[in-house]
Amino acid sequence: MRIRPKKRLGQNFLIDKNIQRKIVESSGLSVSDVVLEIGAGRGEITSLLSRKAGFVYALEIDAALCEILEVNLAGLDNVEVLKGDVLKFDFKNLFAKINREVKVIGNIPYYITTPIIERLLEHREKISSVFIMVQKEFALRAVSGPGSKVFGSLSCFLQYYTAPKILFPISRSCFYPAPKVDSCFLQLSMRKEPAVKVNDEGLFLKIIRAGFNKRRKILRNSLKDIIPQRKLSEFFQKYGIDKNTRPERLGLSDFANLANL
Ligand code: SAM
Repeated sequence: MRIRPKKRLGQNFLIDKNIQRKIVESSGLSVSDVVLEIGAGRGEITSLLSRKAGFVYALEIDAALCEILEVNLAGLDNVEVLKGDVLKFDFKNLFAKINREVKVIGNIPYYITTPIIERLLEHREKISSVFIMVQKEFALRAVSGPGSKVFGSLSCFLQYYTAPKILFPISRSCFYPAPKVDSCFLQLSMRKEPAVKVNDEGLFLKIIRAGFNKRRKILRNSLKDIIPQRKLSEFFQKYGIDKNTRPERLGLSDFANLANL
């Protein structure tokens, strides 16, 4: 059955068979794994996943594609197609049914990358790893560290909860229709404990967001509305940090020290 890709649903189908195989191989699946695939599309990755994993839940928002999935995946007794929107999906209910950690895999629409990851992080205790296709620039931000031009609040947020790793790049020509951007396959391994210890997580994340909000400003100025100047001075002095430093010079542990202070 032929379908016309819907741009509004980010339908850029992965047509390169080698990359489809590489995605499944690099996810290191075994029969003991339960996989939740986000945006199953026409089910090409899904059927490869079903050969390696114990069970695959294939989530797809598009009713027409769900019908195609039912046809294409008929006969695979370890796959269940779930029709739904990943941003509204009842993960709690699904994860309660599965009595082990889940691997989440997906060639997802890029315009909802961050909200999807935020939702998955809310359920991180039920997820061991997330393997997703992302825009190359997103992947570079995910793995960047202090001093890098692209290091920012997203890098901190992801690295706090997960260990991000770029598995391989994917050229735009591997998709139909070809998107205007290049991609990377990214692994986010959930940390059992966050990367740094903070007493008040809300404050820690607020400081990071405010700190990077105006990245060309020095940190002292960006944070002046949420931290008293005398506390900031104490922080710079205690940790030997230049008081005119910019946010991208600080690492996660510096932001943790500041929040804890
Ligand atoms: N997995 C297929 C592949 O690799 O060829 C399709 C990938 S395509 C980039 C993204 C898929 O996600 C589409 O099938 C699209 O319909 C689906 N999708 C878009 N928004 C979604 C949402 N909010 N929830 C679930 N699936 C969604």
